[in-house]
Amino acid sequence: MNVAVYKDVLIKKRAELAGTAGLKPIQNSMEHNNGRQGDMADQASGNNEVHITLKLKQTDAKILQAIDEALVRIDKGTFGVCRDCGEPIAEARLNAIPWTRVCITCKEKQKA
Ligand SMILES: [Zn+2]
Repeated sequence: MNVAVYKDVLIKKRAELAGTAGLKPIQNSMEHNNGRQGDMADQASGNNEVHITLKLKQTDAKILQAIDEALVRIDKGTFGVCRDCGEPIAEARLNAIPWTRVCITCKEKQKA
């Protein structure tokens, strides 16, 4: 497996998400963000678009965190190994979601 390729993809995706979400450093972004969300809500009270934007930002923040964790795993040499069962994660799955923590089998178990 060529980990460098995944690292490249993760870093690019991270930059993309950080740009859209307006978060730069993942650390201490929450406090900063809450202040801005408050302002936005005040300016557009009762506007549904604000709620959609906030929801998207929460999802982005979760993915950003998962990407950061994946980058740590690349540095540690444990990238591509399932967190739950320790088996290698299929490359097709990593290609689709490079920041995934678990293999498809464990993901299915989580849903059940
Ligand atoms: Zn697994």
